[in-house]
Amino acid sequence: MIGNVAFREIFDVAADAMFILDQDGLILEVNQIAYEQLGYTKAEMVGRAIADFVPPPLAAATRDRLANVRKHGYLIFESAMVRKDGSVLPLEIGNKVIEHADGNSYYGVARDISERKRLDQALKESEARFRTLSEDAPEAIVIHDLDTGKFIDATTSAERLFACERDEILQHGPEYFFAPDQPEGTPSIASIQERGQRILAGEQMKFERLIRNGKGQDIFCEVRLVRLPSANANLIRASYLDITERKMAADKIEHLAFYDSLTDLPNRRLMLDRLDQALIASNRSAKFGVLMILDLDNFKAINDTKGHDVGDRLLIEVAHRIVSSVRPEDTVSRLGGDEYVVLVEALGPDETLAASRAEMIAENIRIALTQPYVLYRGEQAQHSTSSIGVTLFRGNELAIDILLKQADMALYQAKGAGRNTIRFFNPAMQAVIESRSRMEAALRNGLQNGEFQLHYQPKVDQEGRTNGAEALLRWMSADQGQVSPVNFIPLAENTGIIIPLGLWVMQTACAQLKAWSESPGTCDLQISINVSARQFHEANFVGQVFDSLKQSGANPKLLKLELTESVVLEDVEDAITRMQQIKALGVTFSLDDFGTGFSSLSYLKRLPLDEVKIDQSFVRDVTSDANDAAIVRAIIAMSRSLGIQVIAEGVETEEQLHFLKENGCMNFQGYLFGKPMPIEELNRLL
Ligand code: C2E
Ligand code: CA
Ligand code: CA
Repeated sequence: MIGNVAFREIFDVAADAMFILDQDGLILEVNQIAYEQLGYTKAEMVGRAIADFVPPPLAAATRDRLANVRKHGYLIFESAMVRKDGSVLPLEIGNKVIEHADGNSYYGVARDISERKRLDQALKESEARFRTLSEDAPEAIVIHDLDTGKFIDATTSAERLFACERDEILQHGPEYFFAPDQPEGTPSIASIQERGQRILAGEQMKFERLIRNGKGQDIFCEVRLVRLPSANANLIRASYLDITERKMAADKIEHLAFYDSLTDLPNRRLMLDRLDQALIASNRSAKFGVLMILDLDNFKAINDTKGHDVGDRLLIEVAHRIVSSVRPEDTVSRLGGDEYVVLVEALGPDETLAASRAEMIAENIRIALTQPYVLYRGEQAQHSTSSIGVTLFRGNELAIDILLKQADMALYQAKGAGRNTIRFFNPAMQAVIESRSRMEAALRNGLQNGEFQLHYQPKVDQEGRTNGAEALLRWMSADQGQVSPVNFIPLAENTGIIIPLGLWVMQTACAQLKAWSESPGTCDLQISINVSARQFHEANFVGQVFDSLKQSGANPKLLKLELTESVVLEDVEDAITRMQQIKALGVTFSLDDFGTGFSSLSYLKRLPLDEVKIDQSFVRDVTSDANDAAIVRAIIAMSRSLGIQVIAEGVETEEQLHFLKENGCMNFQGYLFGKPMPIEELNRLL
């Protein structure tokens, strides 16, 4: 215990004001600093109530507080006292109660906290100043706490940008506001933490980010991240500046640089770039591509007589028509004036086929452009035609300007040939195309002039009895003599003639079934017809089968449709649906040329097939080639297990027949039993 004297000395030299009060709050003792701070003498204070020195609003609280001190023994609180000159002195007071035999008294130690109060106030003001500064700033500013991953502060401009109340913003972190589809090159969300660490290490960052705000609007922002100094938290200050408009302007400028302002087609510059890419790609894939230059035949006349306004509208409409004549991945560009360039890639590795595809595309465009143009509502239609120069390319051996020159020369030829025409640069190609289009015209005429016939090849059972026939098309061309289906079926497919031609085959076969049904000797005979891909996938194919049966009165059970694997594979689901619809009519299906395709047995199971036809290439060598023999055995075994009939085609020798019978094949077709023959001949045989 410190003696009384020692206590006195401490009491007087203490840096803080000290009071001793009796139990009623009357001052018993004050130290020097206490009365000096308040501007009184000691005598002026001792004996008076402490409450007299407290600002009146706090006086009542002071009495309550003494009661509290009594209750708890000790209390620290903030309060204030009034100086003699009336000014207020903010204090932090520690009070303790001392128990005596004759009652209680209180010790009070009061520390001047006016400096602290001043600093607090200054800080508040500075914060408020900063706030007004940031409120007006164009950027939205948020403070991101890396430890919690959430924002801990946000400016009013952040509320505006994010279209969210501050409270809601503070419930989330930055990723909450990321738009789901970020433009290429924006840092990924996964690296937020890593990025945070780099910023804490002192790095500053600036990048673009697409924000989706509370209203669902996407806003392009320039984001800047910088470390926010803090003693015990990892804070990042992020500012978001809306740059959507700037961005759109930049996009627009870029668009102008690469697109024609009238038609919005790629301009020459972009076309050259695409052509460059196309040559590289073609070099890699070894596939042909085609470059076409197209020029309107009478544009100058229309422009001069009808005015530029009409001319412009025509150019726009031409652009639309070209674009809708090609696939979306093809490039259509306008070089200027009435010249357009079309670039089509990936036409396959076969030159003749690529040429005929190119010609078909050019022809589609040419025809589209000959349709009448109504450029102003209610105006009389304008007519226009175009000439098209075409050149094929493969690889990148020829320079771009040489290719353009070739197409241009071909265009010149087309103009020379009387306009509204297509010309190939390569004369050999041109010859191929011409003979092809002659043949196409001949096919169309042939169909009208009745130049097609069906020949029938007998199909036999194990006893060699004819149980049906396959109908095979024959073209007795007026100027080419008999043309093999191998030569004209692909062309008929390409040109779409197969649709009316195939329908004619079906109707003719049905009529034959009906004729056979009249006599007991032939009424059970089946007819198989070949159905090609284009025909099968035609929207109305099912309807055509139905109508052919109905109109002829043929028994659907005797009609069999032969499909190849490629026909089915083009769209397996659609094929299955169609087959089921047709089967519902009673018609049966055979899978032609089986074994040559790529079909897996697993999908074969899913097809509603009645028969598979072993391809003649396997039958040919079945007695000499062990591989072919194995394949034939496998096909027969598999078909049996699936409950599907098997027929072998191309059976020419007794040895082949013997092998097939040995291995369980029950149906045959081939020269051994009869070649395809006119119906009269077959009827004589039956
Ligand atoms: P395919 O359907 O595989 O027809 C079988 C072909 O093999 C027929 O040729 C037939 O004459 C021939 N052939 C029959 N037996 C033998 C034989 O023992 N040995 C040999 N070496 N060949 C035999 P064709 O008539 O020239 O028909 C060729 C292809 O033309 C047919 O192949 C078929 O894919 C197509 N085709 C024929 N007619 C039509 C038709 O009406 N519509 C469609 N879409 N395609 C048809
Ligand atoms: Ca066939
Ligand atoms: Ca076949």
